Amino acid sequence: LIVHVQRAATLLQAAQRICILTGAGVSAESGIPTFRDKQTGLWEQFRAEDLASPDAFERDPKLVWSWYQWRRKLVHDKAPNPAHHALAQWQESAETSKSHLTKKQQLTLITQNVDDLHEQAGSTVIHLHGHLWRNRCNQCNASYHYKSVDQKSTLLNNSKENNSKDVINFDDELITCQHCGGYIRPDIIWFGESLPVDAWQTAEQAAANCEVFISIGTSSLVYPAAGLAQLAKQNGATIIEINPNPTPNTIVDITLAAKAGVVMPLLLDQIL
Ligand code: NAD
Repeated sequence: LIVHVQRAATLLQAAQRICILTGAGVSAESGIPTFRDKQTGLWEQFRAEDLASPDAFERDPKLVWSWYQWRRKLVHDKAPNPAHHALAQWQESAETSKSHLTKKQQLTLITQNVDDLHEQAGSTVIHLHGHLWRNRCNQCNASYHYKSVDQKSTLLNNSKENNSKDVINFDDELITCQHCGGYIRPDIIWFGESLPVDAWQTAEQAAANCEVFISIGTSSLVYPAAGLAQLAKQNGATIIEINPNPTPNTIVDITLAAKAGVVMPLLLDQIL
């Protein structure tokens, strides 16, 4: 592993434009299960793909809402792990040259995750698949969201006493929109829905223009996000993958086959 990390670090030190895509695996060491991990209790019998879709919400909004409320309960007290911290530190150094980097680097961090652990670690990140801590009306699109991590915990603590409709609690009861009466749903991009245009354009541009593309903790099965590595490769980038398990990604140049929380601090040690 160390030899491969050194090879990757040499490439990354010389690069000026780096694009990083993270998936559920980067948050696994924080205790947030990936979709392909075994789910617990009631949710064992469902596949995530069958719940995270507009059809599922249409068919049974209560079931889908309950699943997300369960996911929120699971995620709300989780903290960034060494991989999130290493990425945030690298981003800061890349922007300010506060390190052994001889020049500034343009480091674009893109995530498929809906948790906010990158932000909690201090990163600026592009969310391709939306945010677990935001909601919107399924009918009129009105936003119902937590404005900050701090406010999130306050709202969660007060949720039992506070009956305001734009306060999200962990209850399974469906909430209706105060403007149009439609159901409130998580502001997450479900299977079959289009990605946010701005986020996708920025991600595509960063992938097409980077010299090195790093794929961290993603199974590379969910498109279009999985296509970003291919786009980078077609434009001449070197592809690095960090994942303890093999993936169908056949265009990888350097595989760092270990957990992100182990590899990222090692890599950063060599780069900065
Ligand atoms: P995925 O579940 O398909 O794949 C996770 C990948 O992470 C696997 O290849 C696995 O081998 C790898 N992995 C597991 N532990 C790891 C570790 N410690 N370090 C590095 N890699 C590790 O996830 P995906 O590719 O992100 O795509 C599925 C969808 O799941 C995405 O759309 C995402 O929004 C959603 N999702 C998000 C979260 C989250 O926000 N934390 C959690 C579960 C699923």
